[in-house]
Amino acid sequence: VIDWWCEQAWLGGDTAVDAVLIRTDGGVIRAVETGATEPVGARRLAGVTFPGFANGHSHAFHLMLRGQTHAGAGSFWTWREQMYRAATVLDPDGYHELAVAVYREMLAAGYTVVGEFHYLHHDPSGVAYADPNAMGQALLEAARVAGIRITLLDTLYLHGGLDGGYLPLDPVQRRFSDGSAESWAERVMELAPGTGARVGAAIHSVRAVDPRSAGIVADLAAANRMPLHAHVSEQPAENAACIDVYGATPTQLLDGVGALGDRFTAVHATHLTGGDIDLLAGGFVCLCPTTERDLADGIGPSIELAAAEVGLTIGSDSQTVIDPFEEMRAVEYHQRLDTLRRGNHSVGDLLAAGTSGGYRSLGWPEGGRLAPGALADFVTVGFDSPRLAGIPNEHRAAAVVFSASPADITSVVVAGQTVS
Ligand SMILES: [Zn+2]
Repeated sequence: VIDWWCEQAWLGGDTAVDAVLIRTDGGVIRAVETGATEPVGARRLAGVTFPGFANGHSHAFHLMLRGQTHAGAGSFWTWREQMYRAATVLDPDGYHELAVAVYREMLAAGYTVVGEFHYLHHDPSGVAYADPNAMGQALLEAARVAGIRITLLDTLYLHGGLDGGYLPLDPVQRRFSDGSAESWAERVMELAPGTGARVGAAIHSVRAVDPRSAGIVADLAAANRMPLHAHVSEQPAENAACIDVYGATPTQLLDGVGALGDRFTAVHATHLTGGDIDLLAGGFVCLCPTTERDLADGIGPSIELAAAEVGLTIGSDSQTVIDPFEEMRAVEYHQRLDTLRRGNHSVGDLLAAGTSGGYRSLGWPEGGRLAPGALADFVTVGFDSPRLAGIPNEHRAAAVVFSASPADITSVVVAGQTVS
């Protein structure tokens, strides 16, 4: 049993609570006491302690693009060409090494679980490695080495695009494809996640997966109670192509094959109709605002989604920045620029999106909370930096959302172990 004495802790709502004792045992929180006196021998966490933050959407290999693509002109589609070129150079050992560095950066930034949306499956020519899951296992092993919890969202990717019909795979996309949903399913069921790791399923997008194949992914996820993620309506062109071919929006198409529900996360969900928002109720949307603004995607309807009882989550996606505070505050700030109104999402709701919402969407419903029975994953933000010094206790939770940086983090605990 380890006692952690928190000067303050965020237990929900818009403010943090003073003097909180967290008692952990075997990687799980056994008790949370408020108004506690500091016990002798407790580990002292000065500042404000939060449940660990959840990175709901990551492509580890996009880190290779950091600094190289943001200054260019063009659109999402020209960026995508640059991203594909980065995807050609990795093998399992190289990907492992890169992912360890990426996941360590995530931990240092306060992310204690990552949803890795993984589609770099095979060798650059599209041929399976001797172990067909070599790339996925390299990511799982990287998470274990770094000490971050992971949900490997193994992603089906079959087609090169949707434009009047499905386009053949571009040569650089060949390594993404298993050839068929059936082969994908067979490979996914061979993954051995180990402790601290879980496997989920993903449909890359309606651009890369036809409805019949998407239905197979949805069925496998349902049969195994796995989280199911998909890129949805990141760009207006995806909606136009989908409506042109199917007379349905991407959300409607995914609904038609049984993909939606309380284990489903729509990633981005930037360009939705009112009907799409209603269909997503009860599930999740992962907003990646630092990526969405970099790629000129637009601003997702986070206010309407929250009102429709869609759980919001955040993700670092392209790794341009790895910073949960920046993602949370961007959700609110982007709405302010768009609506000319402040206070669209409360501090408590933004923190819930960054913590419990993300954990649930990644298939860890027992995480993302400071409560008895929850996973002992928590992050402490210190208040002795020039940036945060002197902020009164009652404003500290808001200060973390709107002003903190990963540099202010003083402790990261995963499964009851200090990892950063
Ligand atoms: Zn993505």
